[in-house]
Amino acid sequence: QARLRNIPAFTYQSGLDEQYLRKLNITQRLQRVTETGGLELHYQPQSCLSTRKIVGVEALLRWNDPELGPVFPDEFIPLAEETGTISSLTQWVLNQALNDIKALALDYRLAMVSINLSANDLLDATMIQKLLAAQLSIAGSATQLEFEITETALVQDADTAVHHLHQMESAGIGLAMDDFGTGYSSLSQLKRLPVSKLKIDKSFVLSLVDDADDQSIVKATIAMAKALSLKVIAEGVENQVSAQLLQQWGCDVMQGYYLAKPMPLNRLIQWLKEYNE
Ligand code: C2E
Ligand code: CA
Ligand code: CA
Ligand code: CA
Repeated sequence: QARLRNIPAFTYQSGLDEQYLRKLNITQRLQRVTETGGLELHYQPQSCLSTRKIVGVEALLRWNDPELGPVFPDEFIPLAEETGTISSLTQWVLNQALNDIKALALDYRLAMVSINLSANDLLDATMIQKLLAAQLSIAGSATQLEFEITETALVQDADTAVHHLHQMESAGIGLAMDDFGTGYSSLSQLKRLPVSKLKIDKSFVLSLVDDADDQSIVKATIAMAKALSLKVIAEGVENQVSAQLLQQWGCDVMQGYYLAKPMPLNRLIQWLKEYNE
């Protein structure tokens, strides 16, 4: 009887433990993932809304762990950031992207590959040196590197972040403000940053067709970006009507399932060939 009474409490407890153990497990397996394997880089195309030409791809990390199965970046990136393994992941992504750019050059002249940077990366002088070296290594290539940054680094240490962004800009690296509208994005902040592109977060774009508030926000964001001479890209474009609205409001580039989902390099090469036929 005593055992039976204990069951509910035990189950409740074990629910919490499971969550905690998963985090712990992910964190530990992340620490060695660049050696043990399971990481893959996928690419999602971006097209110019007026010409429909492919202007670049965003590199998105995928992780299929032999024990945990597929783990999505929304779960493991924040943990990697908390526990400091993010810089080894960023390094892996950068190396993989540089290799893929070389493979891609054999078939196709892709203008740009965009890589996500975490706040930790942007505040890390050693990482910035690696990014500058990467830029030098592809100087003559048809494909240029771009980095997508968020406001998080600016909130933590604006002076260091701005200094590093200027170093990157001077080296000819393209910079985009990611997830615009979601964090602490402020217009005055945006004005003092050397970014040339603003990326409207998918949370404002996914239900654009039915949501009047999202329409107002997106329209105003595009107008503001134009006033600051920034290029605008919308992510999360899932249908033709959204694409039409965005084009009508002056948005430059779209990314989303309507065009293509993220895919591995070999599929991307095939996709680009077919798209251009
Ligand atoms: P993000 O940078 O905002 O990337 C866009 C996310 O939206 C991606 O999710 C992409 O697959 C998804 N997406 C694109 N088009 C659509 C669409 O039409 N509909 C819907 N519902 N979703 C769409 P993903 O690949 O799961 O990545 C999630 C987040 O994880 C990224 O958000 C980024 O913050 C982070 N992340 C991914 N790869 C990296 C990386 O290599 N480094 C860093 N630091 N962060 C990464
Ligand atoms: Ca991004
Ligand atoms: Ca986003
Ligand atoms: Ca993001």
